[in-house]
Amino acid sequence: MNLPVVSVILLVVSTVHAFQYTELAQYIDSHQEEYVEALRDWVAIESDSSNVQKRPELHRMMEMTAQKLRLMGGTVELVDIGEQELPDGQTVTLPKVVTAQFGNDPSKVTVCVYGHVDVQPAKLEDGWATEPYNLTDINGNLYGRGASDNKAPVLAWIHAVGAYQALNMELPVNVKYVIEGMEETGSNGLDAMILAQRDTFFSDVDYIIISDCSWLSRRPALTYGTRGNCYFFAEVEGPKQDLHSGVYGGTVIEPMTDLIGILDTMINPSGKILIPGIREAVAPLSDEEWKMYQDIEFDVENYKSKIGVSHLMYTNKVDLLAHLWRYPTVTIHGIEGAFSDRGTKTVIPLRLSLIYHVIFLYPVVVMLQVTDYLHSVFAKRKSPNKLKVTMVIGAKPWLADPQQALYEAGKAAVRRVFDMEPDLIREGGTIPIAKTFQDVTGKSIIMMPIGGFDDGLHSQNEKMSRYNYIEGTKLFIAYLNEVSKIQKTSV
Ligand SMILES: [Zn+2]
Repeated sequence: MNLPVVSVILLVVSTVHAFQYTELAQYIDSHQEEYVEALRDWVAIESDSSNVQKRPELHRMMEMTAQKLRLMGGTVELVDIGEQELPDGQTVTLPKVVTAQFGNDPSKVTVCVYGHVDVQPAKLEDGWATEPYNLTDINGNLYGRGASDNKAPVLAWIHAVGAYQALNMELPVNVKYVIEGMEETGSNGLDAMILAQRDTFFSDVDYIIISDCSWLSRRPALTYGTRGNCYFFAEVEGPKQDLHSGVYGGTVIEPMTDLIGILDTMINPSGKILIPGIREAVAPLSDEEWKMYQDIEFDVENYKSKIGVSHLMYTNKVDLLAHLWRYPTVTIHGIEGAFSDRGTKTVIPLRLSLIYHVIFLYPVVVMLQVTDYLHSVFAKRKSPNKLKVTMVIGAKPWLADPQQALYEAGKAAVRRVFDMEPDLIREGGTIPIAKTFQDVTGKSIIMMPIGGFDDGLHSQNEKMSRYNYIEGTKLFIAYLNEVSKIQKTSV
């Protein structure tokens, strides 16, 4: 009998394979202030991709991101994706895309984390309670533009790998990063970059992970679908110059009247889209989906009070979620060229553009249907003015199977960190690059949000709670371990 020897061998084996989650989680807790400071440094950079005046800041943001990854010993590249053409014909350099790699063990699963470090515009005078580019901690909420969308999640992914390194623990998977700086304006240049690197950087990637969305409630969530987004301009052009309404009003067929006339034919007051073929192109809700939606934690009263309305388009949870996630809608954003200052200007504008978008459908279908429909409605007015309809963004929807192994690993990671089952949700917004990743690389994608339901993305007082930021980092740590098991069991 030599039992002691056997037990020693077993001990060694179990040490090699054990996932030391507790140590990693403790490391994250004890480095919390460092992570908040890292977020403060990133939020301080006005990396607004919609404003070309801020382009130097955006370039600096990409360089800072690359440098952080370089200091961790990653193989980092700043990939040139060319120039952006502006509406006036000028060109400006696009922010480089950061790619990085940690580990290249062919026996391990390789995941690729996608994120972005550009932000929406923000000014104090828009109604922020704090300076938008100065991260401010109020009661455990970290306020700042880009805090939740998407700087803290990107940092959390970087810190997750950093924690394994700091504790000298081997990464359970190879980790790659693709971090861009044009997401908020349509990921200009990224599609071409992914296509160009399909057989190089992306060739060994097994799964793509995106954390650019939010939970629906206080319960953690995994996201398995996003809506598409077709953004249009409809321009009505009339007289060759602006006209005084006292001198010419009553004789001229006004572009504004024409524009408002067609605007009112797109959607009715109860939310029904009047453009033929749009609503019909989406399959009705299945019984299974109805059941899934019914089980999701979503407080309608809380939702109403958060946005400050007394009632919504639908009264029950399932209808609301279905119209938020899977059915199309029309949203009107603005009228360019119209008088909008204070005062009593009396001018008939010569040219107006209606800016709107139709959500969730394949862009080609939407473009044809919308353009044909608006021209036919306009023709009935028999106006001498001219209508031009252009689709400027056509981003496809994305949908995954939430029962696949990639999502099972996500559920296990949520159970480990939060001790509960995640909600399986879809997202009303669009993450256009998800569909590109799926189509070009052929890899499966999981969306694993850590942002809170009330983070105010794109809005005033955007924030990321410390709780979500820190527990989210632990979630990513746990997920890297869970996803490493996939190949062993189900491939
Ligand atoms: Zn985002």
